[in-house]
This record gives sequence, C-alpha cells and structure tokens, in this order.
Amino acid sequence: MFKKLLYVLFSIALTLLVFYGFTHSGLDAFIDGIENKTFDLRQSVISKHRTASKDIMIITIDDASYEYALDNIGEWPLPRGLYADLVEFVEKQKPRTLAFDMLFVKSAKNNAAEDKKLANVFKKYDNLYTAMNFDYQAEDLRRPQNLPQKFEITLNNLSNIDFEENAFTNYRPIVEDIINNTSNIGTVNISRSNDGILRKAPVLVKYRDNFYPQMSFLMANGGLREVTLNENNTLTFADRVIPLDKDGNAILNWYGASGSYQEIPLYKIIKKMNGENIELNADFKDKIVFVGMTANSLFDLKTTPTDKLFPGVEVLATYVNNILDNNFVTKAPIACTILLSVLISLIIGFITLKFVSVSAMIFLTLLTYMGYTIFTFQMMKHFNLWVDLVSPLIFATIVFIAMLIVKYVIKSKDFEQQYKLATTDGLTGLYNHRYFQEQMTSALEHSKRYETEFSLIIIDIDYFKKFNDNYGHQCGDRVLRLVAQTLKKNVRATDIVCRYGGEEMSIILPNIGYNDAIFTAQKLCKMVSEKEVHTNNDKTANVTISLGVATYPKDAQTTQDLIKIADERLYHAKENGRNQVGG
Ligand code: GH3
Ligand code: MG
Ligand code: MG
Repeated sequence: MFKKLLYVLFSIALTLLVFYGFTHSGLDAFIDGIENKTFDLRQSVISKHRTASKDIMIITIDDASYEYALDNIGEWPLPRGLYADLVEFVEKQKPRTLAFDMLFVKSAKNNAAEDKKLANVFKKYDNLYTAMNFDYQAEDLRRPQNLPQKFEITLNNLSNIDFEENAFTNYRPIVEDIINNTSNIGTVNISRSNDGILRKAPVLVKYRDNFYPQMSFLMANGGLREVTLNENNTLTFADRVIPLDKDGNAILNWYGASGSYQEIPLYKIIKKMNGENIELNADFKDKIVFVGMTANSLFDLKTTPTDKLFPGVEVLATYVNNILDNNFVTKAPIACTILLSVLISLIIGFITLKFVSVSAMIFLTLLTYMGYTIFTFQMMKHFNLWVDLVSPLIFATIVFIAMLIVKYVIKSKDFEQQYKLATTDGLTGLYNHRYFQEQMTSALEHSKRYETEFSLIIIDIDYFKKFNDNYGHQCGDRVLRLVAQTLKKNVRATDIVCRYGGEEMSIILPNIGYNDAIFTAQKLCKMVSEKEVHTNNDKTANVTISLGVATYPKDAQTTQDLIKIADERLYHAKENGRNQVGG
C-alpha cells in the first residue's frame, strides 16, 4: 500500500517537474506547434460533421468573374459605381446585412463620381458594411491618422489581456465620403500562428489607444458599441459570451474546406443586372451577405486548419457562423492540462507497474493514448473545448519510461534479495551448503582448465555441545557468528567462506596451494582462540576450532574426495587435542 502511494506521488512529482522543465526551456513553443497541428486535425475531422449556416451567402469575385470583368468592363479594380448597383440589386431582396470584404481605399485611380455613387448607398442602407485594415506601415503612406469616434467600441477591460498583439500604429485610409456616410466599418485584421496558419481572429483591435471591432463581429451584433472583457478572458455583450485567448483572439471553429458557404459568382449578378436572361439561384432575403474575392489570381487566400487555400471572405463568413452558433473554441486552462497530464501519467504508471508482459504494457499504453485522443476530439466536438493533446501525451510517455526504469530497478533489487536468500545462511551470513557445493564444483573445473591449484579448509568448533550446554543455545549462536566473522575478515575477498552445517564451516581458497592453505588455517586457528566470547553472566569464555586442509590436485581429483580428505585431517586435529590444524 505504502509502495503504491509512493508511485502515485512519484508520478505526480515527475509530471510536474517535466511540465516545469518544458515550459521553461523553449520546448513549449515546439510543442505548441505540434499542438496546433492536432487542432487542425481535429477541426478537419469535426468540420465534416458540421454544416455551414444557410443564412450566410457570399457573392464571390471568383476567377470567372475576374475574367468577365477584364473582358467586358475592361478595367480592374471594378468601377465603384458597379458595386453601388450591386448593393441596390441585393438590397431589393432585403438581406439581413450586406458586407464588403474590400477596402475602398483612396488611390490615384479614384474616380470622384464613382466614389460618390458608392458612398451614397452607404448613406441609404444602414445594414451595409465595409472593411478597414490596420497595420504597421510607414506613416507617410497612411493618412488620415484619425478615425471618427463613431467607429470605436468601448471596452470595459477587467482581464489582463493587453491587446499588444493586436495593437497597430497605422490604418489604410478609405474614401472619405464613405467614412462620413456610415458608422458600419469594422476591421478585417486576422491573426496567424507562427506556422502561418489562420486559426483565430481578434474581436477587437487596438489602434492609437482606441478599440475597433471586427467587421464580422459588428455586423452580427448590429449597433453594438460597448463590451466587457471579464477576468476569465470572456467577452460579454447582451446575452453573448465569447472566450478569448491570452492575446485577445477568438479561436474559430471551422465549417469545412473552402466552398462550404452558398456562393454566387459576381459575373452572374452583373449579367442579370444587365438584363440578360440568366438563371440566378440567389435568395438574399434575411441573409447575411458578403461580397469578396475568391479568385486565385487575386491573392486574398489564407491557410486555415481545414484548407490550404481559403479565401479571406470565407474566413469572415466562418467568423459570423461562430457568432450565430455561439460556437467559439475555448482553450482549456493550463491547470486542466496539468491535471489531465497527471491523470494519464497515473494510468500509464499503473499499467507499467501492474503488467508483466511488455507487449501488454505497450498495448494498454497505446490504448490509453488513443482513448485520450478520442476524448480531446469529443471535447472539441461537443463542448468547443480545446484540450491539449500533445503535452499530456509527452508527459505520459516520459512517465512511462521512468516507471519502466523504476520497475526494472525494483525487479533487479528483488532478484538480488532472492539470490541472497537462496545462497546464504541466515544466522552467520556465510554462504550456505548448497552454494558451497556449487562453488566447489566450479573451483575444480576452473583449476582443471587453467591447471592451477585450489584448497579447501574445513573447520569445526571444539566442544561446542558443551558450550551450548554451559551457556545456552543463544550464546552458542553468538559464538557461531563470531567464528564466522573472524574467518571472513581474515581471508581474501576471493575466498569463499561457507557454513557447511551445524558448527562446521568451510573455506574454498582459489589459486592457493597446500602450504599457503595450511598457513592460512593456522592463522585462523590462532585468531579464533584469541577471541573472547561474552557469556550470559557477564563473564567471558574462549572457543577454539580444529581445521583440516586438502588441496587440488595434490590430495584428490574430485570434490567428494577433497572434502573427505579435509574431513579426515580435521578428525586428526581433534584426535591430537583440538585447537590445531590437522596434518
Ligand atoms: P567436538 O569438539 O568433537 O567437535 O565436540 P562438539 O561438541 O563440538 O561436537 P558435536 O558434533 O558432538 O556437537 C555439535 C553441537 O553443535 C551439537 C549442536 O547442539 C551444536 N549446534 C549445531 N548447530 C548449532 C546452531 O546453529 N546453534 C547452536 N547454538 N548450536 C548448534
Ligand atoms: Mg561437529
Ligand atoms: Mg564440534
């Protein structure tokens, strides 16, 4: 139980440590990059099950319309009066809103009469919107600097978002009459991730200390000029809530690849306006209508999670779709990511420790990864929640490896313990009889092979029965331990000291000849006799040992014979009065 708790604490500590390491090493940017890709994957899969709003329509300036304009009207950009005619044509059907994803900028090509005509429709229809764009371009290229107050949106900011990522110094000036005639101008600034992919867009941008709303946001919430940004980074207005990321961007849900919205090519409408007999399947009544470029040749293309070439106007449509469906993505807070990381790490840790088979371990771990991946998909699909996928799995993998290491360390420790139990004697700590027999065999084999000698000393404690009788078995045990230690301490590290049985011990001395073995035996005999044993009644007593030595190959050729001869010599020592080495 205690061990398990330790593992749990270990996994948590490790996860937190790894998490700290990652977020403080710059690797987090790398992980963020992969995380973004998984977001794209999630969106690509989920968007197949989503349907784009039928209330949104796009009048597209597609490649065909662009060519038609060049062939039939003879100029590009199109004369602005034509857009005014388009507005009149669409407005007849009473759309909910009509918006241009275009900048009607001032330029050398401006035609005052055409501009006036366009500006007039802005005065006439208060559901008509157009775009402006902020940037950091050189100031002398960007005039006028000041925008009328009517375009601003008041922000009550209770969060720590400072909008510095979406703060701009310059603005691309648009035709002044349009500015004067409408307050329905919003920005079309977007936000790209480091990999250049458009996943989010600001709701508001900052320009010269004032805030200006995104055009899509403005048109979906007509007349809105005040919002509150709460402490939890959600933007609230009326009964709506939009979650924002740390830079003030709304993360968009996507509704499929390019071409998901109902689109009508502009040239068909022009033909219709010119009185040509053309089938135009376009009912704009109550619709949110955009006019924008989708032609490849006009370059207003972005890369989004669901498509490599996604026209800017469809991004605006997607934005409005998110507002209509109240569908913006919320990024799960970091605490949630840490919690999930710990949770998966615990599961993986449990699997690693519980299962013996490596293939079962790997299979279950992969199953856990898959389960978690599906979980993140479902969270996004049903709750618009972007739960981190990559970092928890990386942490879990690190925990998996760490646990595997821990497991094998514990296993090898266990093995060592088992081995020790199987080969040693509990009372004296010396090797046991079985080990002695094994070592005798291998010593013999070794000596035979390398043609060296080895010796065996057998030791028996003198009058040990009497000692037990006099002082008790516990004191006898102490003597056994004392003799064992004395033997062990006074031989070489390569010598193998064993408890042969009872009060008999043995020493295998590899590469030692008869004379050296005798010398060692005599030394040991003397050492033991000099030891004092504390007896029960605070007195001391002495013990002595008798020893017998046999050497391969001089005395015998088999282990049994060697033992037998050493035993016989031990018997002689006893016969001759004990406390000596038998000859
Ligand atoms: P000798 O000098 O001839 O060797 O006499 P001895 O009394 O030592 O010989 P014997 O073989 O008759 O007696 C051995 C005694 O060792 C008997 C047994 O009680 C004691 N003994 C054997 N194993 C242990 C043990 O683990 N602990 C204790 N306390 N005594 C043991
Ligand atoms: Mg004995
Ligand atoms: Mg004895």
